[in-house]
Amino acid sequence: MKTQTFFECQQCGECCNGYGGVFVTPEDIHAIADYLQTDRDHFIENYCQMSGTKPVIAQGPDGYCIFWDSEHQCTIHPVNPGMCRTWPFIKSVLTDIANWRIMASSCPGIRTGVSDDDLKAYIAQELSLIHT
Ligand code: SF4
Ligand code: SF4
Repeated sequence: MKTQTFFECQQCGECCNGYGGVFVTPEDIHAIADYLQTDRDHFIENYCQMSGTKPVIAQGPDGYCIFWDSEHQCTIHPVNPGMCRTWPFIKSVLTDIANWRIMASSCPGIRTGVSDDDLKAYIAQELSLIHT
């Protein structure tokens, strides 16, 4: 089955809005700080908020990620965080397939109405591609 039958991004930007921010790994921080021509500490201090002990990318007053611009573009697209690059293929969907349907309520690119078995096989395949 082709990828588009389960997910096709509509470029609406909803996944860049709200949801408590995007977690950034040390690798993400390094890549984004380099891209912004700054250093790790400056990046965390000026572009992140803390969620517990972990940095997440800050949100602007409109609730959108601060790297989402008015032209509906990610301004750090070449180095956007792993969490953004891999969405909606996340391991928790394999743990509980209901998460796919919950995510679909806020992401118009996610298709529902497919069998759980097909969905699990598809997501497992996408995850294996991401992690190879
Ligand atoms: S919410 Fe879904 S369809 Fe919209 S931009 Fe994000 S991934 Fe694409
Ligand atoms: S880093 Fe880019 S893709 Fe990720 S939430 Fe922010 S604007 Fe969206």
